Parts: sequence; structure tokens; C-alpha cells
Amino acid sequence: MDSKNFTLFIVLVIVMVAVVTLNLQGHGIVIGEQGRPIIREPFTAEDYSISIEADGIRVSLSDEVLEEYKGNYLSVHAYDSDDAYFAIFKRITGKEIEITVDEIPSFQVTFKENKVANIDKPERADTFYQILKDAINQSRDYGLGRCLLGRQCIQSCPVNAIKLIRDDTKEGKGRIIPEIEYTKCILDGKCANVCPTHLTVLDKTK
Ligand code: SF4
Repeated sequence: MDSKNFTLFIVLVIVMVAVVTLNLQGHGIVIGEQGRPIIREPFTAEDYSISIEADGIRVSLSDEVLEEYKGNYLSVHAYDSDDAYFAIFKRITGKEIEITVDEIPSFQVTFKENKVANIDKPERADTFYQILKDAINQSRDYGLGRCLLGRQCIQSCPVNAIKLIRDDTKEGKGRIIPEIEYTKCILDGKCANVCPTHLTVLDKTK
């Protein structure tokens, strides 16, 4: 192929790629970014604090967490004496999340060998206030997390490489996170592109 034909060939390829991309976007399909999915570190004591008051729970957020999540949702969780996880989801509107004494948890999660087994509406009638208060008094895990249990990451994965698990590191405070089987992962980035709270993000260096 001489240089004139080669230039024509390159121009043709660029035009074809542009046409295909515009066509897909016209059908509402966005081509997502690709990369190695990683799970973000848990929130730390610098990101938030939780206090129990007479009229409810206050979760105070740092400026950075507020800036990232304003208008979005985060999860506050606590474990009961049967090792079940209870979560309440709250929309972030300011520096404080308020949970009143009579609010019930949004979801109850049970585990089998550290993997999420069931996600249900709470079976017990306890308020989230009571569950969290007991967790604090009895030194069980509780905290602020990003997973909203929507399982979009699992549903988006074409190779079934994701499970939800309990993060039982000291820093994780029992938060729920996706566990990615990297031997199966094809690095298409779909899980990170659908995660509404950016718990899963892409490492572009890999
Ligand atoms: S293959 Fe599955 S785990 Fe890997 S990036 Fe894609 S969606 Fe995520």
C-alpha cells in the first residue's frame, strides 16, 4: 500500500469508528471506560463520626465526603447479636445525617461464610436507633459505607466474577463490598461504570 492509499485507509477507519460511536450513542448506549476494578478503602474517622443523642443518631461528615456525595445516598449500618447486618440509606443533603429514634432499617443482610446470603426487609421490629445503640454498647461493628445493595455490579458483570461479602478487616467495620475474582475478570470496567456511589472504581494503570 503506497502512502496515499495508507492515509486514505486511516481516514476511512477514523470515519467508521466515529459513525459507529455516534450510532450507539444515538441509541442511548454509552461506551464506558475500561480498566482494572478496585474497591475503595473504607471511610475513616477523619471522614465521619457517629453519635447517639436522646432524640436520634447524628452522623457528621467531613467536607470531602459532603462534597463527593451531596445529593447521593450513603449507608449507615450496625450488626445485631445474631451477626445480621442492618442498614439505613440516607440522602446526603448537608454535613449531618439524622436518623430519628423511630426509623426502621432499610434492609437486613445475612451471611454464609462471609458472603452475602440474603438481602431482605428487616424481620425484627427493632428501630435502627436501638440496633446501633446495642452495637455500640456491645462492641459490635457499625459505621458508614458506600454499598447500597443494588447489586448492579453483579448484574453488569459478563463473566460472573463478583460476589458481595462482609469486609471484616478492622478498618472495614463490617461494611459490605464486592469481591472480584480477578482470574475471571476481563477488565471491561462495567462494574465500576454502574456503581452509583463509586465504591468500585477503575485503576487505569493496569
Ligand atoms: S469483568 Fe466483571 S468484575 Fe471485571 S471489570 Fe467487567 S464487570 Fe467488573
